Amino acid sequence: MRIITSPDPLLREVCEPVEIGDKSVKRLAKQMLREMYKDDGVGLAAPQVGVLKRIVVIDTQWPQEDEKGRPMKKNPLVFINPEIIEHSDERVKNLEGCLSVPGISCEIERWSWVKVKCFDENFNEVIREGDGLFGRCMQHEIDHLDGITLFERLSPLDRLAKLEEYKAAVERGAKPGEC
Ligand SMILES: [Zn+2]
Repeated sequence: MRIITSPDPLLREVCEPVEIGDKSVKRLAKQMLREMYKDDGVGLAAPQVGVLKRIVVIDTQWPQEDEKGRPMKKNPLVFINPEIIEHSDERVKNLEGCLSVPGISCEIERWSWVKVKCFDENFNEVIREGDGLFGRCMQHEIDHLDGITLFERLSPLDRLAKLEEYKAAVERGAKPGEC
């Protein structure tokens, strides 16, 4: 498994829904999580590993520390066929990186809170909601399933500037996980 990077055309494809009960999903999600942890990411979508299916993995807990400064326990979450069913009116801007766009980060405006309906890895229907990093991450990863990367979320002017910055990052050999 390898993380594909922009401008690979696979990142611009709209992904197919997963068939309910598809047994291959559990193994794929496990491999995606392993890859995500290896590259110090907090989220990964299946198209980023070249699989055009609506699967996302997220863990925004593990890079944080508890009140005693110890690393938090891992909390891997699998999202199958995720859909945003509710969101805040408020939108907030914050910096985002992406394993498929190594070497740069972009200020992106997102809803400050979202509620997402999906299936977990056992095909139980679950509702997950969140703000902060988790809410932002869910929106970022669901964008990937619709072929939307960081660049498509920027204004035309910002996009040009960031594409230049990204070109320079690629030339100096930036690897997934670098922001
Ligand atoms: Zn991404």
